[in-house]
Amino acid sequence: MADSLTLDEFLARVAAFSAEARPAIAAADSADALEGVRAKYLGRNHGWLKDLSAALGQLPKEARGAAGKAFNDARTDVEGALETRQASLAPSSAGVALADPTMPARHAWRGAVHPVSQVIDEVVAIFRELGFTVALGPEAESPWYNFGSLNFPADHPAMDLHDTLYISDDVVLRTHTSPVQVRTLQSYPPPIRVLIPGNVHRRDPFDPSHAPTFAQIEGLVVDEGISFADLKATLTHFANRFFGSTKTRFRPSYFPFTEPSAEMDVLCGVCKGSGCGVCKQSGWVEILGSGLVHPAVLESAGVDSERYSGWAFGMGPARTALARHGIPDIRLLYDSDVRFLDQFAR
Ligand SMILES: [Zn+2]
Repeated sequence: MADSLTLDEFLARVAAFSAEARPAIAAADSADALEGVRAKYLGRNHGWLKDLSAALGQLPKEARGAAGKAFNDARTDVEGALETRQASLAPSSAGVALADPTMPARHAWRGAVHPVSQVIDEVVAIFRELGFTVALGPEAESPWYNFGSLNFPADHPAMDLHDTLYISDDVVLRTHTSPVQVRTLQSYPPPIRVLIPGNVHRRDPFDPSHAPTFAQIEGLVVDEGISFADLKATLTHFANRFFGSTKTRFRPSYFPFTEPSAEMDVLCGVCKGSGCGVCKQSGWVEILGSGLVHPAVLESAGVDSERYSGWAFGMGPARTALARHGIPDIRLLYDSDVRFLDQFAR
């Protein structure tokens, strides 16, 4: 190469490099500004350092030892200054935390299962031991699945706009989990033992005992030779497992989709039957509705009602949670105020 550079010229360039880079680093007042300085002086592609490195190659061989040392010293020096500046610009968390040591510590919430979900989990666990599986279905349903297939007469008041939320003429928000009974019967041949937890929706304003959206659990058993004795034995077993050893009673009731129908009460856990505010002085608390599946429901799902029979039940886990904890207002459960719900965490 014809280009020649003397050692003195090279050392002058190195000195200029240090002399310019160091004040620039000291003047950078933000991480972005410092990054700009770094690119200008130490950048791999266009920086001063690269030019110096190229100039090193143009020196006479005997000068390269001293030149290389000066070059490396200057680079180490500038890189060190850059790192020091970088550290001083980074926010110091220790400094902030110590600014006011009397500040209260932040409360860290621990996740927990909602009281309504606790009830659902326990009910599912008890029925799983009896061979039940869990079935789920859509919350937006056709009126046929929600009403027609379940033996609701065409003029039943539950279908009215006052009670049911319609998305369109053909789609409703399900008012109970019972449509999943029909969907299960359509999809699987008997014997069937399923538990159906899920949210349901009604055109109810919030008040102490109603919510527009709430959880339900239903159970369905269909097989040959199923009778009311199976229903009573299974639900009594459930009540004893869930509430601890307790008395139960069945009262005649009416639902379009079961015949005969019965509601099951358990002895009030608070007063043990002598009467109190929780049981409205009756000594009993209503837990669930039940009955033998109406033959019309089996037939609408394509199940031979001459050969098969079944029973079903439905309960409201929120009501159960209210009774269990003596909570007076269902809105407390659904307001999602963690300070309230935290009491029941476990
Ligand atoms: Zn009572």
